[in-house]
Amino acid sequence: MPTLTSYVCGAFAHGKGELVPLLNPATEEVCAQASCGGLDAAAVLDHARLRGGPALRALTFAQRGELLGKLAATIADHRDELIETSVVNGGTTRGGAKFDIDGAAGTLQAYAELGKKLGEARELADGETVMIGRGAKLAGRHLYLSREGVAVFINAFNFPAWGFAEKAATALLAGAPVINKPATATAWTAARMAELLVAANVLPDGAFQQVLGTVTPLLERLGPQDMVAFTGSSGTGTTVRSLPALLRHGVRVNVEADSLNAAVMGPDVAPGSSAWQTLLRDVSREMTEKSGQKCTATRRVLVPQARVAEFLEELVDRVRAVKVGNPASRDVEVGPLATRQQMVDVHAGCARMRGVAEVACGEERPANLIDIAAGKGFFCGPTVFVARSDKAVEEAHRDEIFGPVTTAIPYSGSADDAVALVRRGGGMLVTSVYSEDREWGSGVAKAIAPWVGRVCMVDSKSEGITLPPGMVLPDLLHGGPGRAGGGEELGGLRGVQHYLARTAFEGPRAIVERLLG
Ligand code: NAP
Repeated sequence: MPTLTSYVCGAFAHGKGELVPLLNPATEEVCAQASCGGLDAAAVLDHARLRGGPALRALTFAQRGELLGKLAATIADHRDELIETSVVNGGTTRGGAKFDIDGAAGTLQAYAELGKKLGEARELADGETVMIGRGAKLAGRHLYLSREGVAVFINAFNFPAWGFAEKAATALLAGAPVINKPATATAWTAARMAELLVAANVLPDGAFQQVLGTVTPLLERLGPQDMVAFTGSSGTGTTVRSLPALLRHGVRVNVEADSLNAAVMGPDVAPGSSAWQTLLRDVSREMTEKSGQKCTATRRVLVPQARVAEFLEELVDRVRAVKVGNPASRDVEVGPLATRQQMVDVHAGCARMRGVAEVACGEERPANLIDIAAGKGFFCGPTVFVARSDKAVEEAHRDEIFGPVTTAIPYSGSADDAVALVRRGGGMLVTSVYSEDREWGSGVAKAIAPWVGRVCMVDSKSEGITLPPGMVLPDLLHGGPGRAGGGEELGGLRGVQHYLARTAFEGPRAIVERLLG
């Protein structure tokens, strides 16, 4: 059985703590063990700050972009074995694993291309030179330059490859050395990826390290130039961003947390129309892909009262047809939840909903699981609730149920009611609006915008080109206000800027204009 180790200070290192067993969530068998804890946090940070940082900052954007291109190629070249670890340890289907692995390679490649476009520079201008005061002599200009710190990533269990890659692409392009801490339960893919990236010998020494197990000793030593990017639950996000060391030193913290993403059906969407079909495709896919354990999964579907019965009939047909079981079996479309705790939490959330809402379909544990021994595996059947009462609507907005679960919420069909319901999510990563009526659709999209990181708009013209709302794109922002953590990642250059320092320079015009080289 593989023993997974951290990669720190230029070597793979066993921790001094206990070995943590990692399970196959479909069979509950131990598939690997992680050697965690007891690392010398100060040495890890020094290695990043004193070796990785200076080496990266000596490179131009184009050179850093070349490194990202090689990381992308390394992951793509080893796609099949990473898919394998993801299926066994993550409980993901091959399709779900590809979403993670290909997403990782694709995002690194997108930032490789951005690096090439930024070219031989090491700094970026932010806006034009501005003249200060009445004379023509005093000028000001904003520049982005590399910070001198380290970027620490804390990732959730659901995207061991992409979760690292989307953070690393932007940080490394900005010239920041990275330390990745994957979620322990699904660390096998992250650990294997680290072995592959190290073996490819692409990055300068100290530019990449990976820590298994607790990250707290590292966080407690962070300083004014350091940055943290966290993905996971709101509770842990709050703990991390409230750490005294981070507050004291003004460490930049980016949080991606829970999100009650919504899909809104406009009142004009007719059964059978293109927008109707796209909505059904999106909802059934987003609630089941990766067993619903996606930060961008659709948790609420707002359906005009008059369409509820027909919509549910078609959605339930699709959801009931999905095959649940061991993701090692090629027929299976929905695997187990990643951990026993996830299953307990999802079942508890479903039990609360069952107490107040109608169940259109879904059981706690489906009867005919494919290739699963009796009583084994951390399963939840794909479930659709219908929230017809105020109590049910309230419960649907209490907590995110992080599993193959969604709730249909009937509404009047008015734009104001749709907007009010979307806002009740308290801040989302993504919301999609389906309408043929452009005025109605764009009115809703703009009204919900302050509450949502990304708004997808769908009409019949989208047919054949629209992407599922759960697909995060390197060129567009990923993050959301409020409950979603208030963070922003990706978005092309915007994600890189998060890891750069922006400084205003003021002085005689000739000097200021020469700053950018
Ligand atoms: P979690 O328990 O918050 O864990 C997330 C990460 O934080 C893991 O790497 C975990 O390490 C680490 N961690 C735990 N306690 C910590 C502490 N005190 N200090 C620093 N790090 C700590 O979340 P999860 O169970 O992995 O993920 C499920 C939740 O994340 C869901 O509720 C979902 O809504 C949310 N999520 C959000 C997004 C997004 O992009 N917005 C994406 C995925 C998931 P260990 O594994 O070693 O405990």
